[in-house]
Amino acid sequence: MTGGGFQSGFHARNVPRAQVKWEQFLICSHGCEEVIQLISHVSGEVEFELCKLEAERMGRVLLEASANTESF
Ligand SMILES: [Zn+2]
Repeated sequence: MTGGGFQSGFHARNVPRAQVKWEQFLICSHGCEEVIQLISHVSGEVEFELCKLEAERMGRVLLEASANTESF
């Protein structure tokens, strides 16, 4: 599976850390070699960058949050 998309108009891709666009905002404190970039379909710009570990954490948080809304 490569990348993926959201209806909000982003797609994701993996790049080596050397190709990070916003190093100072990169969400990774582990020195990971690979970084996931979210690119806006509207601007074509990299809007968000985080490493695989953080992406997995974020995915869990989102899944938990979406599961929790069922109890409202
Ligand atoms: Zn990392």
